[in-house]
Amino acid sequence: MHPVVAGLRGDVRYAAPLSEFTSFRIGGPADVLVQPADLDDLCRLVRQGRRARVPLFVLGGTNVLVRDGGIAGVVMILARLDRAQEEPEAVVYGEAGIGMPRLMQFAARRGLSGLEWAAGIPGTLGGCVVMNAGTKLGDMSRAVKAVRMVSPAGRITDHPVSDLEFRYRRSRLPRGIVAGAWLQLASGSPERITQSVKDYLRYRKETQPLTQPNAGCVFKNPGPQTAGGLIEQAGLKGCRVGDAEVSTKHANFIVNRGQAKAADVTALIAKVKRTVKARTGLALDLELTVIGAR
Ligand SMILES: Cc1cc2nc3c(=O)[nH]c(=O)nc-3n(C[C@H](O)[C@H](O)[C@H](O)COP(=O)(O)OP(=O)(O)OC[C@H]3O[C@@H](n4cnc5c(N)ncnc54)[C@H](O)[C@@H]3O)c2cc1C
Repeated sequence: MHPVVAGLRGDVRYAAPLSEFTSFRIGGPADVLVQPADLDDLCRLVRQGRRARVPLFVLGGTNVLVRDGGIAGVVMILARLDRAQEEPEAVVYGEAGIGMPRLMQFAARRGLSGLEWAAGIPGTLGGCVVMNAGTKLGDMSRAVKAVRMVSPAGRITDHPVSDLEFRYRRSRLPRGIVAGAWLQLASGSPERITQSVKDYLRYRKETQPLTQPNAGCVFKNPGPQTAGGLIEQAGLKGCRVGDAEVSTKHANFIVNRGQAKAADVTALIAKVKRTVKARTGLALDLELTVIGAR
């Protein structure tokens, strides 16, 4: 047994293929994959990782491209930290591993409004805080009241929103791992909230390639123009490298047609960037996080 996982109560796997855990269905193996049983287990893992000088990476899996060589070190999946609880004054606390769809349902059932904009975002609450996930209707920064972190020393610390900085699809948080977040919502009608979520989900189904494996938007919007619009105007819809394809439905999505490798996706990304730059002079920046060895 690797010393980094000694005494953990959660699930531990070795040489685990990360393609099973990413929405892209792409990714080489993690040396060690851990699903901590709870917050204590997570703190222990962080402390032991630091002692053993092993790199730790949190994977939600819906906005990342894991390269084909996989990840040397420990990959953590927080799926078992998935509780939500209602607190006074329309506040909800969610653990970092709860999926946004479940958290939205939790809030809607209690008549708590403020997350409808996130309908269709499949990430975990922790990943959505880190990325300041958002849509044209809103983003995470508008809801977060405070976050609970596990510091690099493995201690639990709580931080009010005034300690945090949110920008377009990124955040500046204290160092460490997001363990949970308090969200300030507002009371509303459960029926109305559920209806807005349904309407927005329908719109997303019509405009995004949700039936094919993908990792959400690949590029950030470089200003008033959307990345998708620029890629479409450059004639790149349907462009392929191997089984990686610029979606014919939404040009800022790359889909995996079946057997795509990370190398295919990175080659396609490079081609899109080159072509858009040559046509418009604009440089596209990645929204997607690319990790792992080639
Ligand atoms: C079909 C589809 C639609 C999508 N639509 C949208 C959309 O409309 N808007 C949008 O913003 N995004 C969208 N996404 C992308 C994605 O869901 C979000 O970016 C989300 O915030 C990523 O969450 P995740 O848990 O999957 O994190 P990951 O993608 O795995 O991780 C993103 C980064 O956050 C870090 N991270 C994750 N969890 C933690 C944690 N607990 N503590 C510290 N670091 C952490 C990771 O290490 C990584 O660096 C979509 C994705 C898909 C597949």
